[in-house]
Parts: sequence; structure tokens; C-alpha cells
Amino acid sequence: MAFEDLKPIVEGFEEENAPLIMAGPCSAETEEQTLTTARQLARGGVKIFRAGIWKPRTKPGGFEGIGKEGLAWLKKIKEETGMKVATEVAMRSHVLDALEAGVDILWIGARTTANPFAVQEIADTLQEAGATDIPVLVKNPVNPDIELWIGALERLYNAGLRRLGAIHRGFSFYGKSIYRNPPQWHIPIELHRRLPNLPIVIDPSHMGGKRELVGPLCQQALDMKFDGLMVESHCTPDEAWSDKNQQVTPEVLKFILSSLVVRSENQETENLQNLRQQIDRVDNDLLELFNRRMEIARKIGKYKKDHSMPVVQEGRYNDLMRSRVGEAVLMGMSADFMKTVLQAIHEESVRQQLEILSEQTDSTETEE
Ligand code: PEP
Ligand code: MN
Repeated sequence: MAFEDLKPIVEGFEEENAPLIMAGPCSAETEEQTLTTARQLARGGVKIFRAGIWKPRTKPGGFEGIGKEGLAWLKKIKEETGMKVATEVAMRSHVLDALEAGVDILWIGARTTANPFAVQEIADTLQEAGATDIPVLVKNPVNPDIELWIGALERLYNAGLRRLGAIHRGFSFYGKSIYRNPPQWHIPIELHRRLPNLPIVIDPSHMGGKRELVGPLCQQALDMKFDGLMVESHCTPDEAWSDKNQQVTPEVLKFILSSLVVRSENQETENLQNLRQQIDRVDNDLLELFNRRMEIARKIGKYKKDHSMPVVQEGRYNDLMRSRVGEAVLMGMSADFMKTVLQAIHEESVRQQLEILSEQTDSTETEE
């Protein structure tokens, strides 16, 4: 499914050739907080206001959203500021309530995208309500599964929705990272390769999890030519009822947005072309080297088979990791990067060695 006949999320946004900016608090908490934030954002030039009305919290007991009551505040914001308003929906009743309140844009949260039943229910509800012209943005599922992400978009597309977009908010993980949800940029880049017409909005707030990462992540998003930004902004972030560490004031957001550099694509100088050619050559060399390494790994596989040795020898693997990662760090590369590369190479070597073992087993069987 190529999504060839998609329509713009918001009419006119593509002609403007500027990133689509959506901003607002993680949650609508009180009428005063929601309206104050909205007024400040509108003054700063933001045209799409976001606010969570129903909040999917990882654990019970936190603030689970103001619910329906907050929809009236969004309506007021629309009337007063002229901004479009957006909120998250996760089930049929949310969709119906949001439509009734005149919400302009819906998004599906990361936890909901991971649940095909819920996404189908949302798609069916929109179709049954005859509301297929409403824009729906689909956040990536919490886990780095591009098929699940595309699957959610397909469910909406099949229900007749054409104003579709994706929101990349990073993926949850187990372990340590400077990010709350590491970006794993190769996944949205692959999404763009597979669905070139689909606009992709970046959510630096849930990705970074802290205020100081919002600006740099916004710049990275633009440098990678993504189509928009969804940023959490709160009039008094320190007092926010949810996600307070990652929300910035409308004033800070205005500063961040005005400092962003939109790089033009037509600045390719000879110098850059030359550097790109060098990269192409190095990548070719790398391929050659990988191939040579795999050839040696296959020979080792044969040796291990002949001497009845196991394919994976832990001691050797640990020594190799330690020394290579140490050397890479001395050269200025990150330990995480080198570990990932070595693990991938090792996995491929093991796969090729297992292939050798099975080939030989087959031929021995036929000889007997
Ligand atoms: C949100 O946008 O407030 C939200 C809950 O985000 P996510 O679904 O990305 O966790
Ligand atoms: Mn949030």
C-alpha cells in the first residue's frame, strides 16, 4: 500500500514549505492553565494547539486526564485564538466526544498504536461517523516495530482516511540512555522510504524527556527533512501534572523555533559532492572488508565442524568485544555504537557458520 492519494494534514501547510508546528501541554489540567498556555502560544505564532484530554498512564494512580470537561476548553481556544486544536484518542467514546466538540486533528498515542484492536475501533468509528476528512496522526508504537506502525496507518487508510501523518516520538527501551525514548532515526527514515507521501512529525518532548534536549532534537528533525514538530509546552512547566520535566514555556518554545536553521537543499557545493564521493568509496571498502571477514568466518565454521567445536565461544567473543570497543572509544567513537556494530557482525558470522554446518551435515547424510 503506497498511500498515493493522501491529502495534506492541514490545507495550505505544504505550500508554506515550513515545518508543521503543533504545541501545547501534555495534559489539559485546568481551564486557566489550558487557556493561558494557548493564548501565549498563539501570540508566539503557533497555529495548532495540542492537549491531552485522556491520558494513558503507564501505571494507575497518576493524573489520567481531565476527560470530556476539557473539550469545552479546546472549543473556547478555537473560538478565541483561531488555532486548530488536536487531542489524543484511544477508543470509540473518545473519538465520538472529540468529534462532537469540533476537535480539528486527532492523534493516536504510542501505547494505542501498539494495539490493533484499538486502532481498528478508532478507524471504524471515524468511518461510521462519516468523519474521514479529519486529520489523524499516528504515533509510533512504543516498541520499535515499523510494521505495527504502518499497520495502524493502513487500518485508517482502509477506513477512508486520507489526511494521515505519522508522529515519531522515539521507542522505549530497557537500560540507560540520555533519551527518555531513544530516536532510532533509521526507523522513521525507513518509514519515509516506504511511504514517501506520508508526512512525518517529530515529537522531541517524549523523545528527549527533558527540556534541554527539546531544541537540539527539533534541529535534528529539520536537518533530516522531517515535516513537522509536536512540542509539549506549558505555561508553568514545573507545576505540570504530567511530563513536567520535558515541557517548555511558550516563551522558550518561541525562542527554540526562532533559532532553528532550515537548511536549503540547493546548497550542494563541489566540496560536499567530493566528500560524499569519499563516503561512497569508504562504504564500498567497508563492504569488501565485511565480505572478507565473512569468508574467514565461514572457514572457521568449517574448522569448528571438523573438530566438533561449538559455533559460539563465549570467552573469545567477550575478549573481542572488550578490545575492539576500547580501541573505538580511543578513536572518538561511542562504546554503544561499536558494541552495536560488533554484535551485528557477530550475529551474521554465526548465521553464516551455522549455514556451513547444516550444508555439511546434509552432504554427510547423503554420503552415508
Ligand atoms: C502525549 O503526546 O502526551 C503522549 C501521551 O505521548 P506518547 O503516546 O508518545 O507517549
Ligand atoms: Mn506527555
